[in-house]
Amino acid sequence: MKTLFFLFLLLTTPGSRLYAQKDEVPYRRVVAALHLHSNISPNGRTSLQAIASLAGKRGIDALIPADTFLQRWEYGMPPLPGLLRATHYRKCVLKFGPEPYLSLLHKLQTDFPKLTVVPGLEVAPAYRWTGHPAKGNLTLHEPQRHILVLGLENPEDIRRLPVLSNPAVGDVRWKNLLLPALLVAAGVALMFRWPAGLIVVVFGLLWGVDQRPFRRPPEAYTAFSRNGYAAAQHLIDYVNARGGLTVWAHPEASNWQQPQKLYRSVLMQTEPYPESLLETRDYTGFGYFWEGEKIVGSPGGTWDQSLLEYALGKRENPVWAFGELDWSEEGRLGTRMDSVQNVLWVKDATKEAVLDCFRRGRFYCVLQQKGHSLVMSDWTVESGKRLGLAGETVEWIPDAKLRARVAVEEPEGSHTLYVTLVRNGKIWKQFRESKTWRAEIPLPPPAGAGRPDYYRLLVKEEGHSALAANPIFVN
Ligand SMILES: [Zn+2]
Repeated sequence: MKTLFFLFLLLTTPGSRLYAQKDEVPYRRVVAALHLHSNISPNGRTSLQAIASLAGKRGIDALIPADTFLQRWEYGMPPLPGLLRATHYRKCVLKFGPEPYLSLLHKLQTDFPKLTVVPGLEVAPAYRWTGHPAKGNLTLHEPQRHILVLGLENPEDIRRLPVLSNPAVGDVRWKNLLLPALLVAAGVALMFRWPAGLIVVVFGLLWGVDQRPFRRPPEAYTAFSRNGYAAAQHLIDYVNARGGLTVWAHPEASNWQQPQKLYRSVLMQTEPYPESLLETRDYTGFGYFWEGEKIVGSPGGTWDQSLLEYALGKRENPVWAFGELDWSEEGRLGTRMDSVQNVLWVKDATKEAVLDCFRRGRFYCVLQQKGHSLVMSDWTVESGKRLGLAGETVEWIPDAKLRARVAVEEPEGSHTLYVTLVRNGKIWKQFRESKTWRAEIPLPPPAGAGRPDYYRLLVKEEGHSALAANPIFVN
């Protein structure tokens, strides 16, 4: 019945009236909180139930946890990496079990029917080692280079996520075992005449054991090809093939740049990775808030470079800006569950609709601090009867115009809004306004023949809050 009603609405509503017109508002705003860690993650302290219950109090409509998928690192010491092997395995979703984890999320959905629960995971595709234990400088690199994987619902798809050191991933390397097996066989044959043949058997066995791990992901993972981005691309493709989304998490985070202690004298270190946006393709987006604003998201940064590649036809899919919390406990490091939000325009608030909206870029993200919040009630391109929302492409006609409205929700005191409109990777217009910024700007014809222009919007409110809207394309 509901579907029929929407169909009726679609058929009877002219295109321009689909979006926030009079009393017909087929699109509704849904606030989504992304990237929260429950006590199933290594450092998480809060149960999923407690998270969901708090989400209701914080005005969150859609909850997308992103518990750590796998924290398992293996080190093999040369020259016998298979024999002299150490594994560090901490609690995570794989250890907990993908099936019971998904059941927990389903139960959460049943217990909190007003909340839309979308499954998510935080995944580090690959890592590498430098140094040597004997020198006291053994270092694990890039264990925090994270991709958020959203929307995978099949436990088997999760269990087999292609991640280095996931024991369920890869092919058994029979070829590598062939020579050791021959040696063992030869040793056994020798033993009939010469008891010392046992030595050959033992050598063969040790050689065989040294081939560990027997099951390995593609070479790109173990070789850390293209500085790890070949493995990341493989993971992105795997998730796409199974209907999920991928989001580069905190690409500028510098908190792991200095080596930190992992275990005794073993160190770990992760360099910021703003280049990840250009080194990979076909992912859905990146975390703009907290850790993607300055290098990736600033005008002309790697986000704009990726959008320009898309406009020029060098990249198949555009890249969207997400707000991610990286929350593990309310109030920790000043983070509240509503500190970073994604505001989506959806027709209904199902899990599928939320994922589809993310895939299409029909949302903006906002950072709010000290109770201040920015609300965007309009961000459209009007071109004749056609109205384009964030993530959409509209055809340019001479009276095409960009419309926007952003306001500070807090009515008290003075609030200055600094507005930046970015056109094709460059600052196009800037405004300074108090409390509410409203604009209706005529759009020039597209700059390049055969490629769309794009417009995106950044708003800052002095020291408190910030907002980033996903681009609208004009052809
Ligand atoms: Zn992370």
